[in-house]
Amino acid sequence: MNYRHAFHAGNFADCMKHALLVWMLGALARKPAALFALDTHAGLRRHDLALGPASRTGEWQAGIARLLDAPPPAPLAEYVALVQRLGLYPGSPAIIQAMLRADDRLACCELHPEDAATLRHSFRHDRQVAVHHRDGYEAIGALLPPAQKRGIVLIDPPYEAPGEFERVGAALRQAQARCPAATLAAWYPIKHRAPVRGLHLDLQSGGLRDVVAAELWLREPLDAARLNGCGLAVVNPPYQFEPAARDILAALLSRLGSGEAGEGHAVTRLVAE
Ligand code: SAM
Repeated sequence: MNYRHAFHAGNFADCMKHALLVWMLGALARKPAALFALDTHAGLRRHDLALGPASRTGEWQAGIARLLDAPPPAPLAEYVALVQRLGLYPGSPAIIQAMLRADDRLACCELHPEDAATLRHSFRHDRQVAVHHRDGYEAIGALLPPAQKRGIVLIDPPYEAPGEFERVGAALRQAQARCPAATLAAWYPIKHRAPVRGLHLDLQSGGLRDVVAAELWLREPLDAARLNGCGLAVVNPPYQFEPAARDILAALLSRLGSGEAGEGHAVTRLVAE
């Protein structure tokens, strides 16, 4: 396991994933019934961007730094306010935890032994959050369906191993079969188009219901060695997700884009409701 998310925390891909996550959590919390959140690839609770590993790559300077240096556009206001409130840059566990209500619960899975230990320590006083040092894919079978019956599953793997796109498709199918009422969100990189087309086809042909892909790219995705953009495949999205995601992605591009040829964003329905 070579990937350490701490080097990439706060980059444009984190901003995209986390801004959409904040909107979805807010939308799900509009119904009073309790929620269960499963973060299958959790990473760390928080990141010190100025002093920690992120300072060595500086990726966050082209990400969250650009959203903090002036009042954010309205669609990003809630996300940016949460980041400011939490202090150090929040990983997905901190974002979800910050939005839990009294009866909601969060389970975080992290396979890297050091990161899992750090994550467990950082939530040691929080009874709403359980940290598991285990394979997040395997946890979908073990932890779903939850007692709450509704909730959200975030699948955010590092895409280091071959076959990760296929594993994500299979994980989404398994999660929807086990918990049909849950919203599922899987992040994916956009380096070049072929793997993304393959994922879309897989999601369209695999028996899933109600699937939308939200994508942001900073340049034409032609260089397979670069993270040119990223996407979030959302299964069973909350009501009004598509217009809200369009506004969030447009606002992100207005701040994070550098005007490179071919930059853009899209919200595409892959499978009907
Ligand atoms: N979700 C985090 C966030 O938004 O702040 C970032 C997660 S990072 C992209 C992926 C994480 O998954 C890494 O911390 C890595 O150690 C962990 N990981 C890799 N394979 C895993 C697996 N099979 N199960 C659980 N965690 C895994």
